[in-house]
Amino acid sequence: YTGKTGNELLTEQVRKLKVHEYQHIPIVVKESVSVYDAISTMFLEDVGTLFVVDEQSCLSGVLSRKDLLRASIGKQDLNAIPVHIIMTRMPNITVCRKDDLLVDVAQKLMNKQIDGIPVVKDSKSGLEVVGRITKTTITKAFVELITDDHI
Ligand code: ADP
Repeated sequence: YTGKTGNELLTEQVRKLKVHEYQHIPIVVKESVSVYDAISTMFLEDVGTLFVVDEQSCLSGVLSRKDLLRASIGKQDLNAIPVHIIMTRMPNITVCRKDDLLVDVAQKLMNKQIDGIPVVKDSKSGLEVVGRITKTTITKAFVELITDDHI
């Protein structure tokens, strides 16, 4: 018997969960892609957040569903607007790294009121996008805590 309370045991289990065990493949588009093509990609890839990369394949922005909806309600030609015009751009992007605790990333999702966060690593010209963590990821991890998988 460890003498630990239920709460201490739960905390211990939660703090074992790392980003790299849970991250999914990131879906990225280039800055020059049109809003129309980004919407198509969002449907085809079945994601709610797209990450935008520059010519060096480094993170330059984020596109959410509402970013694309907002751009779609005017009379503009969606084929003529590149996503870099409407995206949320660096340095205002919340990122995480593969060795971060999943619970810390969950905290960022809550605090910033966003649905997804790119997992990045440093590269010569900026940040390379290597994965994504979303609210769905956190839900999955939460459910797994009540199975034996992680004990
Ligand atoms: P939705 O727009 O569908 O509600 P989000 O809540 O994820 O989706 O996005 C809200 C806003 O925050 C959008 O303008 C989006 O570009 C921006 N955003 C989304 N993810 C991030 C992130 N990781 N870092 C910074 N801004 C983000």
